[in-house]
Amino acid sequence: MTAKNNNNIDSIGNLEKVWSELKTVVHQNGRDLQSVSLVAVSKTHPADAIRPVLKAGQRLFGENRVQEAKVKWPELKLDYPEVRLHLIGPLQSNKVRQALALFNVIETLDRPKLAHTIARVMEETGHRPDLMIQINTGEEEQKAGILPLQADEFISLCRDELNLPVCGLMCVPPMDEEASLHFALLANIAKCNGLDELSMGMSADYPMAVRFGATHVRVGTAIFGTRLAFKG
Ligand SMILES: *Cc1c(COP(=O)(O)O)cnc(C)c1O
Repeated sequence: MTAKNNNNIDSIGNLEKVWSELKTVVHQNGRDLQSVSLVAVSKTHPADAIRPVLKAGQRLFGENRVQEAKVKWPELKLDYPEVRLHLIGPLQSNKVRQALALFNVIETLDRPKLAHTIARVMEETGHRPDLMIQINTGEEEQKAGILPLQADEFISLCRDELNLPVCGLMCVPPMDEEASLHFALLANIAKCNGLDELSMGMSADYPMAVRFGATHVRVGTAIFGTRLAFKG
């Protein structure tokens, strides 16, 4: 199949390439293909651009904005009810209720206030998607996430005090640094805290992330091409 979407991107061919790359690196590292999940990051791409990728069999997707996901996914999910959605962008407290109803995993738990809000809304609604804690491994001021030195305490707050379903950690390394150092740091924090899942690696560096133990890679551009402004 070589269907092109309306930006003339061969997203199906791209998806196949990413899978084949994943297979190679997974086997090189003595891991099972089932130990890595590909989160296809469809943010900014309209439903029409996502459908071919759904047709090709992809069922796991990442979106970075609650509002945009709410516009696109309910309709797509009618045709593909087994789709699973990950929230990979910052979550505002006033969107928690919608996010818990829409997403299967929220990867961006990044502050105590949000943890408390999520705990309360989970209690009220019974919606309990898995959570990942975002770690600001580069200690960048403009970036969301818990600082590495505060990670143990925050994980304990979420898991032990608030009883949240925390399954792992995620990070977005600084643009201008060697990503492998950040992947190693994230893996180490997870290991010290007995957390199994690691969401790390994007289009530019997902093979490297797999070498460092990623269980989820978040790949957008390498599948869907360059992002456009989303028009809901
Ligand atoms: C956009 C985004 C991605 C995908 O990035 P690509 O470089 O397009 O693969 C992954 N993770 C997060 C948190 C993102 O915001």
